Amino acid sequence: MEKLIITAAICGAEVTKEHNPAVPYTVSEIAREAKSAADAGAAIIHLHVRDDDGTPTQSKERFAQCIAAIREYCPDTIIQVTTGGATWMTADERLAPVELSPEMATLDCGTCNFGDDDMIVNSIRTIREFAKRMDEFGVKPEIEVFEKGMVDTALELCSKGVLKSPAHFNFVLGVKGAMNGDARNLTFLADTLPSGFTYTVSGIGRHEMPLAAAAIAMGGHVRVGFEDNVYIEKGVLARSNGELVEKVARMAGELGRQIASPAEARRILNL
Ligand code: ZN
Repeated sequence: MEKLIITAAICGAEVTKEHNPAVPYTVSEIAREAKSAADAGAAIIHLHVRDDDGTPTQSKERFAQCIAAIREYCPDTIIQVTTGGATWMTADERLAPVELSPEMATLDCGTCNFGDDDMIVNSIRTIREFAKRMDEFGVKPEIEVFEKGMVDTALELCSKGVLKSPAHFNFVLGVKGAMNGDARNLTFLADTLPSGFTYTVSGIGRHEMPLAAAAIAMGGHVRVGFEDNVYIEKGVLARSNGELVEKVARMAGELGRQIASPAEARRILNL
């Protein structure tokens, strides 16, 4: 089995300091959380950024500042910017940080409900446009999947050469309104990928650690962090993103799976 790539989603767009006071807003808070995650074994930082008051932004300048600050502490860590942004943002706005040519960016591959009131909206035309822009800037997409049809869409785009093969997927499970966090959903999705393709799983809320354990056992990779879950155990807030990464690293150790360094993650993902 390949070594385990841990991604830390340190910030997100929805979660606030009211949910957990350690959620980072400022540039220095984002750098602090990235360092805690990298020190604990995360090879990839999945990055959203905020204004100082916590409002999510896709400002290219703000991304550049945060990436520079992260680089001071974590020169080697892979940076993966979001193009999901927040649910109310336009496609152009969401694409802005790709122009910084980060090593990776997320690419939402369809449309679904997202909680009680919001939706993630991506037409196939939008997905093609995002894939084209990422290719222009030399950015490897992480294909975000919230529903099975999104895998089928992505595989069709792979077969047409719009997306490069082997592609890397992120199965986000447990979002209200989309596929739930049942481990059977993870095995079903993983089974649909052609050989050589890679995947990570992001379990939302209480699904985070059980799905991490399943992915560790199955040969998949794992994303954790405040974007997906703010608790280290039931009713106990995590002190940092690093504490969540540490827990995954510990689980992997118990199951005999080694953790990938950033250099090893680059090789596994063909970066
Ligand atoms: Zn995100």
